[in-house]
Amino acid sequence: MTTSEAEALKTRVQEYVDANAARLIEISHTIHAHPEIAFEEYESMALLSGAIEEAGFDVTRGVAGLDTAFVAAAACGRPGPAIAFLSEYDALPAIGHACGHNIIATAGLGAALATYSVRNELAGELYLIGTPAEEGGGGKVIMVERGVFDGLDAAMMIHPGTKAMVARGSIASNSLEFEFFGTPSHAAAAPDMGVNALDACIQTFNNINALRQHLTPDVRIHGIITHGGDAVNVVPAYTSAKFSVRAADSDTSFEVVDKVIRCAQAGALAAGAEFRYKHKMHYANRIPNPTMANLFADNIRGLGENVVEPLPNERMGSSDMGNVSQTVPSIHPYVVIADPDVRGHTPEFADAAASERGDAALLRAAKAMAMTAVDLLAQPELLEQAKAEFEESVNSNAAWRKKRFSS
Ligand SMILES: [Zn+2]
Ligand SMILES: [Zn+2]
Repeated sequence: MTTSEAEALKTRVQEYVDANAARLIEISHTIHAHPEIAFEEYESMALLSGAIEEAGFDVTRGVAGLDTAFVAAAACGRPGPAIAFLSEYDALPAIGHACGHNIIATAGLGAALATYSVRNELAGELYLIGTPAEEGGGGKVIMVERGVFDGLDAAMMIHPGTKAMVARGSIASNSLEFEFFGTPSHAAAAPDMGVNALDACIQTFNNINALRQHLTPDVRIHGIITHGGDAVNVVPAYTSAKFSVRAADSDTSFEVVDKVIRCAQAGALAAGAEFRYKHKMHYANRIPNPTMANLFADNIRGLGENVVEPLPNERMGSSDMGNVSQTVPSIHPYVVIADPDVRGHTPEFADAAASERGDAALLRAAKAMAMTAVDLLAQPELLEQAKAEFEESVNSNAAWRKKRFSS
């Protein structure tokens, strides 16, 4: 395909999004008005999967054993590489769509529909993948483990934010659950007969605080006591705690997890308590694909987005898109829906996710993703470049791949 033919298709996908703007915004606002938390996104999933099915995609609901996950697939005019758009649609408890996943969901849908509108001119396969439970449930972690992303050539999603960052990474994160088992006794009359599970738990926190001095600056360890005892006059027989252990990359984070577990074992040993732990979930660090990021940046800049990169990769959180990014070449750019003083996970951010500015960002993002898909399908050498970068940046023997978090 010539460059001018590809440019003509990119104009057509933009026109498709403009022509369908009212419907996309209505879907975004409907999801926003009916927030559903992790793994309970039944109505949002039905709305999105219904809309893509109606357009002509083959839809499979309940993939990877997750009721609210779906995969929609459609073939282009000729066989070719498989490009996926991802939609998240879970909300937060109590504060609704304060992470703006209604925008992610509808931008993914809009991009898939727009690219589908020019499918006859392209060689490839198009997918819209509905990924539940980003907020804590690790929907994509489970879907990666169960092979949903195998065989794809590229995957992309956007996230609303307050700065347009296209090649933003994220840090690896592990969730740990600790339990300490002691022996109850009268705290005044017979403390010597008790084994104090709270001491084991507090000593764990102290040991971890001592450990911090000997960790690299990228490491983050933060914990809470989820059960600290039942009565002050009873030696606590049972306590529990939750920790997040994060580091710049997955393998480093696993090394720190081992050290944190030793801190808890030592705390239990000192108190004479029994200790059990669960390594509940691992979000791998997110590796943005440079070629895809550059294409997306050019496309969305052309639509008026003020891309601010390169920015230092600091003050980052974690996301289950990390695991996807280490399975298939991916991007997870941020589009602007609010001013920089508005923080994510707040009622103000939830308002922005259904504002005129949020609606405009959703349309821009849908267009830019569809244009990027056209770039990748129209110029196979770009996709090859993206895949070569992926092979170079991703450790296919990373320890997280051998662990299972979906049981
Ligand atoms: Zn969030
Ligand atoms: Zn989010």
